[in-house]
Amino acid sequence: MVQSLNHSVPAFDIKQQYTTIEAEVSAAVLEVLASGRYIGGPLVASFEQQFAAYTGVTECVACNSGTDALFLALKAFKIGAGDEVITTPFTFIATAEVISAVGAKPVFVDINATTFNLDVEQVATAITSKTKAVIPVHLFGQPVNMAALMDVAEAHNLVVIEDCAQSTGANWAGQKVGSLGHIGCFSFYPTKNLGACGDGGAITTNDPEIAAQLRVLKEHGQKNRYYYEEIGVNSRLDAIQAAILQIKLRYLDTWNNQRRKVAVRYHQLLNQVSGMITPQELAGGLGVWNQYTIRVLDHKRDLIHSQLQERGVNTMIYYPRPLHLQPVYENLGYKEGQLPVAEQASQEVLSLPMFPELSEEQQDQVIYNLKDCLA
Ligand SMILES: *Cc1c(COP(=O)(O)O)cnc(C)c1O
Repeated sequence: MVQSLNHSVPAFDIKQQYTTIEAEVSAAVLEVLASGRYIGGPLVASFEQQFAAYTGVTECVACNSGTDALFLALKAFKIGAGDEVITTPFTFIATAEVISAVGAKPVFVDINATTFNLDVEQVATAITSKTKAVIPVHLFGQPVNMAALMDVAEAHNLVVIEDCAQSTGANWAGQKVGSLGHIGCFSFYPTKNLGACGDGGAITTNDPEIAAQLRVLKEHGQKNRYYYEEIGVNSRLDAIQAAILQIKLRYLDTWNNQRRKVAVRYHQLLNQVSGMITPQELAGGLGVWNQYTIRVLDHKRDLIHSQLQERGVNTMIYYPRPLHLQPVYENLGYKEGQLPVAEQASQEVLSLPMFPELSEEQQDQVIYNLKDCLA
């Protein structure tokens, strides 16, 4: 076992991944620069086709970020003032922020203690006559039980907008996330499983009318050049990002498999350790391990987090406060104790270093120090 650290272990390492594909990426970027075509164009179109094929849908619309993808999805389904949208309180702020941004009201439902994902059984209890949509988030790379969620949604005529930002390549019952609901929203933020070298996002659907609507909305509401029928936004993917994403998409399954190997090894070596709980996968789902998130018990999470930091092991806390208790959502009137599973998770979660290139030596350092701090 490794006793002391010569090098610190980062929580993620996107630079190392870049070095493995540097020649390909540099050549592609230089080609774009020489082409003079920097926004939109054939590279963005071909990336959209490749990403649609990868996801198993007929339509993909590229945009500027995962946040924009969610915003545009709500807009395309005409969700706005007076509408309610059900989602999880245990997610990145963007998921709920966009609901507010279109003028609708976020309704938070508690999470499942095992998966950290929206508790599908509780969704039905939160539905009112105003509910128009539900946004499941496939958090940390683990897919939501979409079969169960689609049953509830269909019974109540709800639109299902998948937040796939952390789960590119994950699948439920053999189908990729982003192809299971009515519309899928992806982020290509650099630390996501498929990360650009800047901002980027995409929306997937099998509905050609919705896709056409999205293309209008993301170009200022323009249907014919310089004629506007509705208020839109500027949300485009750069050609440089599309070129890089095309290259990286070819490696995505390999990288996701490497993440899985890291997760399996963490599980084998940490499963029996007391004072903590390893994450579990639901039968039916195949996750992509954007994060490997343990629970630290006995109110020791913050202590372990800082002790590991001192020893050069960098861990992350996603997320320290659930959204229903954020100051920005005080007006919604949630009280502490109302969504207890999410609240407890926010006190206990700790995401260990996780990236495809994490070596066994680095992982051993994480495990040795984690066990030692917990002992
Ligand atoms: C990253 C993320 C987003 C937002 O994506 P951006 O590309 O950063 O705008 C949305 N939802 C979740 C769950 C995320 O992790």
